[in-house]
Amino acid sequence: MPVFTHSACLGHDTGPGHPESSQRLAAVIQALHDALPTLDWREAPRASRGQLLSVHDAALLDAILERAPDTLTHLDPDTVLSPSSGEAALRAAGAGIAAVDAVMAGNSDTAFCAVRPPGHHATGGQAMGFCLFNNVAVAAAHALDRHGLARVAIADFDVHHGNGTQAIFEADPRVLYLSSHQNGLFPHSGGARERGVGNVMNLPLPPGTGSRMFQEAWVERLLPELEAFRPQLVLISAGFDAHWRDPLAQMQLDADDYAWLTGELRAIAQQHAAGRVVSTLEGGYDLQALRECSVAHLRALGAG
Ligand SMILES: [Zn+2]
Repeated sequence: MPVFTHSACLGHDTGPGHPESSQRLAAVIQALHDALPTLDWREAPRASRGQLLSVHDAALLDAILERAPDTLTHLDPDTVLSPSSGEAALRAAGAGIAAVDAVMAGNSDTAFCAVRPPGHHATGGQAMGFCLFNNVAVAAAHALDRHGLARVAIADFDVHHGNGTQAIFEADPRVLYLSSHQNGLFPHSGGARERGVGNVMNLPLPPGTGSRMFQEAWVERLLPELEAFRPQLVLISAGFDAHWRDPLAQMQLDADDYAWLTGELRAIAQQHAAGRVVSTLEGGYDLQALRECSVAHLRALGAG
């Protein structure tokens, strides 16, 4: 199974004490190397300007790529630009594109992008919530535009709502956006009444939600939507911050829940999408949880 990453993603420096640190990605990469020695590691290419412009405004590209700062610059209180952040953002977005190309070429049914910065909060015009470019949205647009797909689903199980992904696609019925997230957290969007053009389904869950309620929610509400959509490709915004150990949220999942949901998503992909699943790392801020969940997630995607 191909795993796309790049050393530049470790060089994106958010400053001391920031939860979205390079230690996160280093922990994921080390855990995957240790547990799944047969993974096919590949260097992520840079996303091109044209690929980024398919979902982002030119002004956002300029803000991230043209003004490489000498020191750390805060785009907002959470979102930091360091001298090498532009390169990291290009590689994180490029990983998703290369992973889509790999599964569309039939090299592998599934692929994973071990990247940072994460992406799902970035809107067309604004970097926010630790995210610079919207990696999963760039990958979805590539699958639509370059591979001619008509139905691409994005399943987002990060504990935060992927407001950026929703905003980018909420008027585009070729994309189905499904999100479970903890109610009341940043970015305070993702209510059940936000339905796009019928292509958005949000499931806010209360703090304290554990395995049973989480699995029931997906079985009763979100997986039937995915099934009915008959996706030709399933993309996953894989945040592991709904784990009980995570310091930024209060949900109570464990690695088995991520393995379970990954298996469910993969089963629907096998039914409708020739098994094609591309997953990209989003959040997750406890290193031990990241290690366990990323290994469980990749095993459920068929690695090792
Ligand atoms: Zn998150």
